[in-house]
Amino acid sequence: MATIQNIKGMRDHLPQAMLLRQHIVATLQQVCERYGFDPLQSPVVEYAEVLEGKLGDDEKLIYRFEDHGGRQLALRYDQTVPLARVVAQYAGQLVLPWRRYAYGPSYRGERPARGRYREFYQFDADIVGSSSPLADAEIVALLCEALSALGFPDFVTMLNHRQLIGGIARTSGLDEAAAGGVYRAIDKFDKLGAAGVQEELLRSGVAPRAAEQILALVQIEGDAPAVLEELAARLANDERAVAAVANLRAISEALVGLGIPAERYTVAPRLARGLAYYTGLVFEAITPHWPEGSLLGGGRYDELIGQFAKRSIPTVGLAFGIDRLHDVMEQLGLGPQATGTAVAFVTIFGPEQTQASMALARELRAAGINTLLCLEPTTALGKQFKEADRKGARFALVLGPDELARDTVVLKDLRTGVQEHVERSSVSAKVRSS
Ligand code: AMP
Repeated sequence: MATIQNIKGMRDHLPQAMLLRQHIVATLQQVCERYGFDPLQSPVVEYAEVLEGKLGDDEKLIYRFEDHGGRQLALRYDQTVPLARVVAQYAGQLVLPWRRYAYGPSYRGERPARGRYREFYQFDADIVGSSSPLADAEIVALLCEALSALGFPDFVTMLNHRQLIGGIARTSGLDEAAAGGVYRAIDKFDKLGAAGVQEELLRSGVAPRAAEQILALVQIEGDAPAVLEELAARLANDERAVAAVANLRAISEALVGLGIPAERYTVAPRLARGLAYYTGLVFEAITPHWPEGSLLGGGRYDELIGQFAKRSIPTVGLAFGIDRLHDVMEQLGLGPQATGTAVAFVTIFGPEQTQASMALARELRAAGINTLLCLEPTTALGKQFKEADRKGARFALVLGPDELARDTVVLKDLRTGVQEHVERSSVSAKVRSS
């Protein structure tokens, strides 16, 4: 090996980055559990045939290998196909509707870029076995609460329905076969803008009048009730689009009932979100601070989860991309800024005070305070303070002969430099309350 290096597209996360990532995951877990979701973990490795035939063109991105026993295996591409396997395999043990969350790495042989990696972590939340619009609304509400809890100041969740785009194509005089081209063109709206999409539509063979009509429809904007009213009026002749509008109306009314502020979501008929397996609601959360794309996305996919069980199992869910959340939060300065886990650093005045300092560290730890103990009793105090500061500890504590005689501790606030004598008996309470 010429150079010591990690694999391209797979990242090492040093402590400061890990603290932010752990904060993100803990927050998502807390919100999921508040909504009554239960945890699931499945292996990173699956039989290759479990993943094959589900991803369309993306199948070429799967990492495959043969193990020592000659089995054909693959690293999971996401946590959705493994969920489908789990649902089929444990059918008798799962109580539907089943709300599960799952967190872990997935692997895709992509060309690495900012926000796109070959090993990346997803946090999924899905409701398996319900076609109720309340299930869709719970997922969207959960995502809004999670992004708010992470401190995102101005995100918006765009909602759309697969049958709306179909309806837009049909209402513009196109048949089902042409709808795919319309879908792909609209998918590029945020990247190409209206003029670019129009060109793309014309290139895919859509007549100029139809292209204009499609563009007018997908650009309808406003709050959810207003957009839905306008779509209902314009797509009144297409039965499936009318049903889609009714479904989106039920979902957005449920969001009001769940207490999600109106500025957090909108109906955006231009949101296409991939072709593959969505059957109903689709959504993406966006923020102006991340113009590169969405923060996360999801939707309803009623046919995918049941493919191993060989029956339709209606499911709605989403995947938070931890790496993307991490990149954006780092850029915005959101989340904990800590460089380490320790709050307190117990110094050792000199070799004779080692036992006393160990007792103090024990006491702080027993009180639930993250505490570092100096490991070199002969090091000058000034150097120990410097180490405490570099570790990101808020306080350094000193127990010298005078303090021991008076049953006090010197507490130095490393942020302000202020030093005070504190009664030994109240030192834990003082550190905890600061
Ligand atoms: P998908 O499974 O493609 O719907 O992706 C769901 C979420 O996972 C996306 O919104 C991204 O945040 C994240 N994601 C997908 N692919 C990657 C990747 N290659 N690198 C980092 N994050 C990814």
